[in-house]
Amino acid sequence: MLLPMPVRSSAPLPAPAVLAPGMRVAVTGGAGFIGSHVVEELLRRGHRVHAVDDLSSGSLANLAAVAAHPRLAVTVASVADARAAAAVCDAADAVLHLAGVVGVRRLADDPLGVMQANQRSAEHVFAAAAAARIGVLFTSSSEVYGRARVPFDEGEPVQPGVPTGSRGSYACAKAYAEWLAFGHAARAGAPVVVARLFNTVGPRQTGDHGMVLPRFVQQAVAGLPLTVYGDGRQTRCFAHVAEVASALLDLAAAPAAVGRIVNVGSDVEISVRALAELVRARAASRSPIAVTPLAAVFPPGFEDVPRRLPSLARLRAMVGWAPSRSLSAIVDELLAEARGAAPAAPALTASE
Ligand code: UDP
Repeated sequence: MLLPMPVRSSAPLPAPAVLAPGMRVAVTGGAGFIGSHVVEELLRRGHRVHAVDDLSSGSLANLAAVAAHPRLAVTVASVADARAAAAVCDAADAVLHLAGVVGVRRLADDPLGVMQANQRSAEHVFAAAAAARIGVLFTSSSEVYGRARVPFDEGEPVQPGVPTGSRGSYACAKAYAEWLAFGHAARAGAPVVVARLFNTVGPRQTGDHGMVLPRFVQQAVAGLPLTVYGDGRQTRCFAHVAEVASALLDLAAAPAAVGRIVNVGSDVEISVRALAELVRARAASRSPIAVTPLAAVFPPGFEDVPRRLPSLARLRAMVGWAPSRSLSAIVDELLAEARGAAPAAPALTASE
């Protein structure tokens, strides 16, 4: 008779989730728009946080509300540098890799540079995390779905697009980084979660590099025309950044999310034309809507995504909720911020 053999191994068991209470958590891109909200939420949840940012699009001003927090350290460095990535991961129990060059405007202007920067930082961060055997949460992008059928489902193959077109280079780097994240984590026996972010909006987002909602808000407040690109029938779903940050941290703490790809965003779809009308109405603005041909703003061959809508079934199954804040309330908050009337972000105390 065969008796079951006792299992003995000196290798440590994989951690049950990327995040556990009281961890030292590194956040690459921690001074960015989404990164700074993630940093605030990590502090609220009691973690020690190391925000790392090269300030290429982030700003220390984004961390102003928590700058003096005793559990926060901030380093200005680029994780596209291997030594910086190693130093960050060696001093952490988990890394949330949010750093990246973002914005459709930048992608249109320098597709090769955007792709290379995002690919390099992912290579270094995931290799360093594997060497340190720490867990990773990576924020990938809904761009990897390309023109897939909506709602976008995590089980679908990625579709970065046509390599002669410039838009796909961003999706290609993000998809490559997803493979890297899973590959390194498997080899190291460390937990990994890949979150695919959909359009995220909220305080501190600038419209400098694309980003339709902050642009419409700024235009409405300044009395300028709202620039609707193309026919305005393309759709997006907009989630509030505070809810996105909470969802990311809930996923990072969820054992069921380990080794999975999970969409994070809102599933309330709105056309860009309707978004412009909503902003105009909430702002009580007389700004006209200026329909602008795509060819007037993007280089030839730069495609717009006609519809973007996530399936949130997996997110809901894993964390029990999904972003739901109403777009009207979000627009009101952004209008108040743009008019300088936004309430100051609540300061966090050491006990939070
Ligand atoms: N868009 C627009 N006017 C602008 C900026 C963007 O109509 O001033 C459109 C853009 O063509 C796209 C949508 O708004 O269809 C969302 O653009 P954004 O750059 O915010 O993000 P994307 O979803 O394209 O990554």
